[in-house]
Amino acid sequence: MNQAGRPRTVLMNPGPVMTDARVHDALTVPDMCHREPEFADLMQRVADKLVRAAGGDENHAAVVITGSGTAAIEGALGSVVPARGSLLVIENGTYGDRLTTIARALGISTTPLELGLGTPVSLEAVARALGGGRHTHVALVHHETSTGMLNPVSDVARLAHRAGAQVIVDAVSSFGAEPLSVHECDWVVGSSNKCLEGKPGLSFVVARRDSLAEIGRRPARSFYLDLGRHHAAQSEVGAPAFTPAIPAYHALDVALDLLLEESVAGRHERYGELARVLREGLGELGLELVLPPEHRSVCLTLLKLPGGLTYARLHDAVKALGYVIYAAQTTLQAGHFRLSTMGQMKRTDVEGFLDALREVLPPDDGGQT
Ligand SMILES: *Cc1c(COP(=O)(O)O)cnc(C)c1O
Repeated sequence: MNQAGRPRTVLMNPGPVMTDARVHDALTVPDMCHREPEFADLMQRVADKLVRAAGGDENHAAVVITGSGTAAIEGALGSVVPARGSLLVIENGTYGDRLTTIARALGISTTPLELGLGTPVSLEAVARALGGGRHTHVALVHHETSTGMLNPVSDVARLAHRAGAQVIVDAVSSFGAEPLSVHECDWVVGSSNKCLEGKPGLSFVVARRDSLAEIGRRPARSFYLDLGRHHAAQSEVGAPAFTPAIPAYHALDVALDLLLEESVAGRHERYGELARVLREGLGELGLELVLPPEHRSVCLTLLKLPGGLTYARLHDAVKALGYVIYAAQTTLQAGHFRLSTMGQMKRTDVEGFLDALREVLPPDDGGQT
């Protein structure tokens, strides 16, 4: 049963994830005004916990934006890269490509380093692209949700810093479960409803306070997604610039308590164990995983569709048994699908899914092993 007393649906899509009952219950707190001290306290608590989750200290701050992960990504790119700046985007999947699309829509001078979907980041190629200090900023995705690949953010950041460039990291699908420190990279972007296990509606950027103050002194590319404006309102005035998603804030406050109690390392281990059980079972069923083990995150598994089965048929068959799986994107769409191991998933959920899969797979594809 789920929180509403309905039969439980196991969500294997990479967010919004299944949440703890305490996070869910936080949505039903009394109505509140966002310009009263109660909300200022909540806003401050959430920001402080986000900084801690990002491995930051008193020199860092979190800026929360009401909107999905893409809102904070667009806010970060548009606010951080100055008018005369030059952005290098490392692309090896759909979300990397999207960073370039967003930056170009904002009129930012952007150079994509197109490595190819699912191709591991070559540090030599990054170093070459950074050569001569051509770029003021580098953007990359930490966990490329299109493939499940974990990118070497710390190594890229080291090269970028050596070349005098700052790093903007899309950690939307890794924040909270794949270790990443804001000390290593300059701008970390996340959202409330993936590995943080909160409810959808909020996204955020964690960065140094002095860097946030600095961007606040520059002309903005956007009104609503101006990080400097949000930072000044949230950190200095103590009231949000615009009406926030208050219920999602309450849920995130509780979700962050649960994360800090579990620790990022602990959550990494928990998701890792779910992924291990899932991947072992998928292998026994004869399904083929796309990435080699050393590049896989603990959050998501990309695999090939078994022969003779379309995604739609597989999706509908396992959904009827209580499991929501997720389609692949762009060029992978026809022959692949994705399974997330994020959120309040239990080992029994993974085992139940493997049983469901065994039931629906055509006999030639492992049903008889
Ligand atoms: C989910 C995701 C996003 C976009 O998040 P939305 O909440 O859908 O806007 C961006 N980047 C990555 C890596 C993601 O996984």
